[in-house]
Amino acid sequence: MSDFASNIAKADAYLARFRKDGVLNHIGGAAVPALDGTTFETISPADLKPLARVAHGKAADIAAAAAVAKAAFPAWRAMDGDARKALLHKIADAIEARAEEIALVEAMDTGQSLRFMAKAALRGAENFRYFADLAPTARDGQTLRAKGQVNMTSRSPIGPVGIITPWNTPFMLSTWKIAPALAAGCTVVHKPAEFSPLTARLLVEIAESAGLPAGVWNLVNGLGEDAGRALTEHPDIKAIGFVGESRTGSMIMKQGADTLKRVHFELGGKNPVIVFADADLERAADAATFMIYSLNGERCTSSSRLLVEATIYDRFTAMVADRARRIVVGHPLDPKTVVGPLIHPVHEAKVLDYIAIGQAEGATVAAGGAKLAGLAGCYVQPTLFTGAHNAMRIAQEEIFGPVLTAIPFADEAEALHIANDVQYGLTGYLWTSDVTRAFRFTDALEAGMIWVNSENVRHLPAPFGGVKTSGIGRDGAEWSFEFCMGTKNLAFATTRHHIPKLDS
Ligand code: NAD
Repeated sequence: MSDFASNIAKADAYLARFRKDGVLNHIGGAAVPALDGTTFETISPADLKPLARVAHGKAADIAAAAAVAKAAFPAWRAMDGDARKALLHKIADAIEARAEEIALVEAMDTGQSLRFMAKAALRGAENFRYFADLAPTARDGQTLRAKGQVNMTSRSPIGPVGIITPWNTPFMLSTWKIAPALAAGCTVVHKPAEFSPLTARLLVEIAESAGLPAGVWNLVNGLGEDAGRALTEHPDIKAIGFVGESRTGSMIMKQGADTLKRVHFELGGKNPVIVFADADLERAADAATFMIYSLNGERCTSSSRLLVEATIYDRFTAMVADRARRIVVGHPLDPKTVVGPLIHPVHEAKVLDYIAIGQAEGATVAAGGAKLAGLAGCYVQPTLFTGAHNAMRIAQEEIFGPVLTAIPFADEAEALHIANDVQYGLTGYLWTSDVTRAFRFTDALEAGMIWVNSENVRHLPAPFGGVKTSGIGRDGAEWSFEFCMGTKNLAFATTRHHIPKLDS
């Protein structure tokens, strides 16, 4: 049996339980259907065939999950930090033990190629280990001395938090948001994306099999406008950690206003990769190609605008076009596949619309530009637009697919102007061998994260997040705890200081 055929057979075996039992919610340690018994269907983007019926949770299911998360909070908060650390490491072990299952299910559910999803479990486990190690010190604070006074700060978990995740790499993103909340001592209600709900179900099961007490982590599937909305409006949910589109973030902020919800947003991007003529062009071309086409271009940090110095524009875009044409597009479980199918026909239609818009706007398709013929799923060719300018919609709007828009610039000032002339500010990638320019340019570039002479390489202790409409708040290390914890200040008098008398 070929590796491809064997992957299909193994995936089928792992998916059988979902086909049989559906994807249930998980509340108070029990797998449960939606309270009103309704379900919705989820399909695989690989072949558009149904994968499972999913519990269609709504406000009542969110209320049940929030009540359980509230009840579980005091005991979870009271657990010693070392005990939480040990438990989160056990969850990481349990994730690693099911790495193959997670990879195959995630690939079939999202369309992300197995080549990338093979590491999904390892990255998820790494997130748990990283925050596990911080659990014992998460509540530590500072000592601030003043005349006649010592101030001591400490942090405590804010309460039950709601986590809302998108469909692109759901397993990794869910661990990235949920692990710090648990490490801090918060309980969780998770609402995964309706297009790819399967691995969220695996994750909560894995956590409880590793010993996580019932009720600490609850899962409600459903649509954004009902389950998602109800979560953001629920008074017992103290904060919402959200990853998704910028306009959804804006809706969540409005929905959470009545309950003064604390929010943490990781939103969309239209990230520039800026290539100067003095860069190592081979490496820059590899990195630019990787950052737009890996993960099917369904990646918030993708370098979707390629800004190239005019003197090398034709040569460099030809290098990228050549690389794009050689990328293997195919079934996510085929070991040869680099780019898999887009998540859903609705999203595929959006990406294909943008390809048509780019052509109508006068840009040139230098590579790709069409749906792949002969395959049943949502397969779109890696596409490069040249001859584009920054006012075009394909340069301004997040396409969230394998579509790159290449724009020439005359000099550094113009490069900076184009790079900053978008609503987003998530990441930037700069390629130059001039270190002084790199400092000057990155200082002025409007982005939360910038990589110089590199593709996106994550370092967990470093802050992750965006500026402008790309987000509010940061993840990573202390930044994650700032979101799900509150700081308390204790002030002790150290002298018998004068206390004002009002009754002279
Ligand atoms: P989306 O905003 O449509 O949905 C994300 C989640 O929000 C889903 O679970 C959805 O059900 C829920 N939702 C929708 N409407 C809601 C509402 N009114 N109230 C509460 N919840 C609601 O995003 P998507 O299409 O699933 O994901 C793609 C987007 O995510 C892109 O914009 C991408 O850039 C972004 N993203 C950002 C990051 C980051 O770290 N910045 C990472 C991954 C993806």
